Amino acid sequence: MISPDEALQLIDDLAPVLGAETIPLFRSVDRVLAADIRARTALPLFDNSAMDGFALRAADLKDATPQNPVELTVLETVRAGATARLEVKPGEAARIMTGAPLPRGADSVVMVEATEAGADGKVRLAGATRARSHVRERGEDVAEGSVLLEKGALLRPYDVALLAAQGIVEVPVIRLPRVAVLATGDELVDHREEPGEGRIRNSNGPALLAALSRWGVPAEDLGIAPDEPAALRAVLSAALARADVLVVTGGVSVGDFDCTKSVFADLGLREVFWKVAIKPGKPLYFGALEAPGAPAKLAFGLPGNPIAALVCLEEFVRPALEKLQGYAPKHPSYHLSGAADNDYPKPADRRQYLFCRARPSAGGYALEIIRPQGSAMLGMASRANALALAPAGADRVRRGDVLGFRWLK
Ligand code: AMP
Ligand code: MG
Repeated sequence: MISPDEALQLIDDLAPVLGAETIPLFRSVDRVLAADIRARTALPLFDNSAMDGFALRAADLKDATPQNPVELTVLETVRAGATARLEVKPGEAARIMTGAPLPRGADSVVMVEATEAGADGKVRLAGATRARSHVRERGEDVAEGSVLLEKGALLRPYDVALLAAQGIVEVPVIRLPRVAVLATGDELVDHREEPGEGRIRNSNGPALLAALSRWGVPAEDLGIAPDEPAALRAVLSAALARADVLVVTGGVSVGDFDCTKSVFADLGLREVFWKVAIKPGKPLYFGALEAPGAPAKLAFGLPGNPIAALVCLEEFVRPALEKLQGYAPKHPSYHLSGAADNDYPKPADRRQYLFCRARPSAGGYALEIIRPQGSAMLGMASRANALALAPAGADRVRRGDVLGFRWLK
């Protein structure tokens, strides 16, 4: 048994960052840039108004006060998307809308709320203004040629906005890993079918595929395979040719018919670890297929018990998928903390992931540890809203202990 931190380190060491591909900008959110991107143009593209108001020459308002307002002749209205026909000369102003180009001659904008109608269609101003006020200047945000985003950046909608404003329509990003998901077990039937005597529905397949789909990772559903090495080998060897990552549930324990690990070995995968000091999920297997000149392919053998399978997917498979996509490590994250409401016994030699109901309490959170917990208890997990970490070393959680937790989303 290795510790969960050692397991994560081994996964991180072995998972390669995949190669690059070019994709449309509008599909690039949550992807990692494979190269620096430089500004093609300055932003803003041209001097423009930050307000609805009047474009004018600040010098004209030098002496304006409420007692001694200044009136300026209004030449025209400049709308966003249009350009001014006339130059603004001393004693003149142009009505201007937000985003419209600043007319020649004008150096400042006064917002409409700070003006009044004057005589003969003029505008009356009762105070001075600074030059460039409410003017968004060409290049003040982004200078042409500057580095907009660096290789390795995780693209957010803000970055998509920046690139769109630059007219960048395609971006080089790290490609997504292809994952193949297989449920094994003689007892399993597809969840759309009626289980016969002694059989159960495959809940791991739908659960794992749902999580992968939420993470934006393309996954192939390999369905169900029996506990039969030849059948398992046939499905997995075909899938290994297409996929970067195999995720198999079931058959990794010490049962008489558990054959997942031996089939992985037959397929050339090197066992990196088997058994991690966690509960649920102890029999977790991780293997790698390393071939010269090609990125390593990874295989995870998750326990068959549905809650263990999902916890292992989130805790160990997800970090691998993120590394493959070029992310800096970010999952899982237990940055919240809460005080346990109740005692709960646990194995001292393992970290336990505890399903809890978390609620705000006294400026922090209180965690009700759901009793009982079990790696096959689907109803239990569904009632939880948080997953807390109880560290290895202690044989119980005591009421009042402060535990790290994350929301179960
Ligand atoms: P195993 O890891 O193959 O020993 O399976 C452990 C437990 O998980 C057994 O009770 C299995 O019936 C159950 N199990 C295995 N695979 C699945 C699955 N895909 N969906 C639901 N339960 C499963
Ligand atoms: Mg089994």
